Amino acid sequence: MFKRALNGIQFMNISIVGTGYVGTVTGACLAELGNKVFLVDVIKEKVDKINKGIPPIYEEGLEELLKRNRERITATLDLKEAVTNSDVTFITVGTPSNPDGSIDLKCIKESAEKIGAALKEKERHVVVVKSTVVPGTTENVVVPALEKASGKKAGKGFGAVMNPEFLREGKAIKDFMKPDRIVIGGLDEKSLDSVVKLYKGFSVPILRTNLRTAEMIKYAANAFLAAKISLINEIGNICKKLGIDTYEVAEGIGHDKRIGRAFLDSGAGFGGSCFPKDVKALIAKAKELGYEPKIMEEVLEVNKKQPLKMVELVKKRLPKLEGKTIAVLGLAFKAGTDDVRESPAIPVIKSVLKEGVKVKVYDPEAMKNMKKIFQDIEYCKNLGECLKGSDACLILTDWEEFKNLGDSDFSGMRNKIIIEGRKVLDKKKNGDFEGITW
Ligand code: NAD
Repeated sequence: MFKRALNGIQFMNISIVGTGYVGTVTGACLAELGNKVFLVDVIKEKVDKINKGIPPIYEEGLEELLKRNRERITATLDLKEAVTNSDVTFITVGTPSNPDGSIDLKCIKESAEKIGAALKEKERHVVVVKSTVVPGTTENVVVPALEKASGKKAGKGFGAVMNPEFLREGKAIKDFMKPDRIVIGGLDEKSLDSVVKLYKGFSVPILRTNLRTAEMIKYAANAFLAAKISLINEIGNICKKLGIDTYEVAEGIGHDKRIGRAFLDSGAGFGGSCFPKDVKALIAKAKELGYEPKIMEEVLEVNKKQPLKMVELVKKRLPKLEGKTIAVLGLAFKAGTDDVRESPAIPVIKSVLKEGVKVKVYDPEAMKNMKKIFQDIEYCKNLGECLKGSDACLILTDWEEFKNLGDSDFSGMRNKIIIEGRKVLDKKKNGDFEGITW
């Protein structure tokens, strides 16, 4: 099964289906560790880019990894060939939300069927679900699709494993290479062993579980983190009314080991491809099981209202918004990525546009993606151009570039009204600004 070995470490041939944020990072990192990787997608443009060493998404350090490991990475549209030539196949396709919030498993089913068909002539293979899927999906959706298409039995003809991914966009490579823990759920010990071997050399706890527990650990992690953000934002909203700086409160509670300082950065709320959709999917799954998950519903409700507090603050300073120009700094849902999925900048821009405002925006990486959502706003080449002539500035992403802004950078504004949705500005450099919860 194992093709090559170096210094006692055995390397595998691995295929990865889905070359998005998770698939490309996983592939690049597994290649960096010495494995041969086939990256499969249905989009030719992505495949061509990867074969040229160009990442299909922006993630720090990814281009370097793809280029350095070019000999070990092949991107292809041919799933059958990739699976045939590999020992393990990871499924990393998207798992978006259906309109009712439940998980859309279309891409998962499709890829499982294609992988199954490719397994017909293979002796031994392990299929690993890395996409985030609600508990029960690997057992009840992926395994049956693989069995039907391959004519083989899971645990005998092929192995089925669930290995959730915890990486954060913007820090994805570091998170993959140095995770807090690795969770591997499996049907049988042999398949679990082969995936554990892939992570040989990682000195972190490796938890071996069954399939549905591995799936639940991912949802529980995201539900906890999302809840922590909504809770600190709720506390922040109260602090704002009381004239208290939430960040001092966060520090005060963050030293408590039971709480911890991480994820206490109050602001315009969470976005991204994971927290909103995963909390929604877990709510839908709970309801399907006859349980009403009240806390998670409120986590989403608080988060939905949070970005709009930015608009409320602007309106307090500029009661008549119509005809005014607003500069939005930061479009990505967080720094370090070009991802705008569920970005808090989206409801903010929609809301001010409704008031008849002219919107100018700037983001170092995410403007291309935001152009697919808003075509009729002004995309600026740099910060200065964005701020020039604006009546108010809203900061929505904590990019490093914004942290260095000083008073003089805002001097081109018509009215110097600056509202922070992320705490980036330095009080010493910028006297006149207001934070969403500070
Ligand atoms: P993405 O949308 O960026 O990428 C998915 C890719 O899969 C796309 O390139 C798409 O073309 C491809 N694809 C779809 N159907 C396919 C098929 N049948 N065959 C081959 N390719 C196919 O998604 P992502 O952000 O990388 O997320 C993937 C999964 O990982 C999701 O379940 C997500 O919840 C989970 N996850 C994401 C993150 C993150 O930070 N983005 C972190 C942890 C887990």
